[in-house]
Amino acid sequence: MKYLTLYDGRKFSIDSCIGCDIYNGKIDMSKSLIYENDFFRIIQDTENPIPGFFVISSKRHIRTFNELTSEDLYSLFRLITKTRKGMEKILGIKKVSTIQEDGNENMHFHIWFFPWYPWMNELNLNGYDTEKVRSIMKYSQENLRTDENIRKVHSAVNLMKSNY
Ligand SMILES: [Zn+2]
Repeated sequence: MKYLTLYDGRKFSIDSCIGCDIYNGKIDMSKSLIYENDFFRIIQDTENPIPGFFVISSKRHIRTFNELTSEDLYSLFRLITKTRKGMEKILGIKKVSTIQEDGNENMHFHIWFFPWYPWMNELNLNGYDTEKVRSIMKYSQENLRTDENIRKVHSAVNLMKSNY
């Protein structure tokens, strides 16, 4: 059995797919839900307690862009631009890396909106920008699961709700 530790420290077992387990309610991400429509959902990233680190995922279990319908695409690109603009206008995040990885066969389609903050540059990590993303995630999981920081994560979620 695989386990997932959420950004707030709660632990869940994973049946087969994290994305599907969130959609069917097995993994409770209700405090981090920003927006949903018939096709997609926008939530705080599951594991990393970085305020403004958001994820758009499909409701259907698909893996890649190749499986999106034209209806999905219209909805998705509207949400991508709204999310990126909202991060800047509402949260003051000037720089974002937008990442989609096909991953393994069980990967559930999702897009990361990774926010860059000045404190990340102060971490002495190798690499530059997207190379650093995984190291910053690891750092956040090891150091930022504090009550104060989790409040910041939820505050960013609640502020973004007015964006859609
Ligand atoms: Zn899935």
